[in-house]
Amino acid sequence: MSTYPQRVRDNILPLSVGSTLPEAFEEWSFTERTEDHEQPIETCQLCEQEALRYHFEIRNSLTNKILWVGSQCILKFGLSVFESGRRLSESDTKKKLERLMQQMRLESCMRALEKLAIAEKNKILSNALLYYRKNKYLSPKFAFVVLWRLRSNKIDHSPSFFKINLKRDKYQNDLRGMSLGHVHTIWPALSSSQRDMAIRMGHSAPNAA
Ligand SMILES: [Zn+2]
Repeated sequence: MSTYPQRVRDNILPLSVGSTLPEAFEEWSFTERTEDHEQPIETCQLCEQEALRYHFEIRNSLTNKILWVGSQCILKFGLSVFESGRRLSESDTKKKLERLMQQMRLESCMRALEKLAIAEKNKILSNALLYYRKNKYLSPKFAFVVLWRLRSNKIDHSPSFFKINLKRDKYQNDLRGMSLGHVHTIWPALSSSQRDMAIRMGHSAPNAA
């Protein structure tokens, strides 16, 4: 089995002009294209790490070759990421990649909601879809209906990707008044501070299955 740096070298040098890794890395930059494979089934074409869900495309500016890699490789090897023609610093690159990942999670939620709205002709669900598209979060009550119906319809989705808003008093009251079963349905979508809030309201965490 080849070692990790050797793998990286074998994958990138034949597609680059430079003959050393640092020279080669200089030629590559992120193209802004991303792909969500829905499941962790893909491989990084640079380091060969497996079980990736998200792919980021990089291109060599001299050879025009492309590779689909994991975000970690972009960070680890300091590959160029641009915004409005400006090369981003390491911390801004990290923020940008995280933002793109967030966007892909949102789109994945939207796709699940669209399938659900087609599967069940239901006013609440079509309203939830419009609401989520506009606000990028759900109220606790909407979240319960959406996650419950997604599960019942066996529509592939990641509950933790949905965002719930608890900033308004009304939403907090809704959460306070929810049955424990409903709270547990939306639990994966709650952030850790939102879970703390639910516990302060008297709810308990689901048992770790
Ligand atoms: Zn990689």
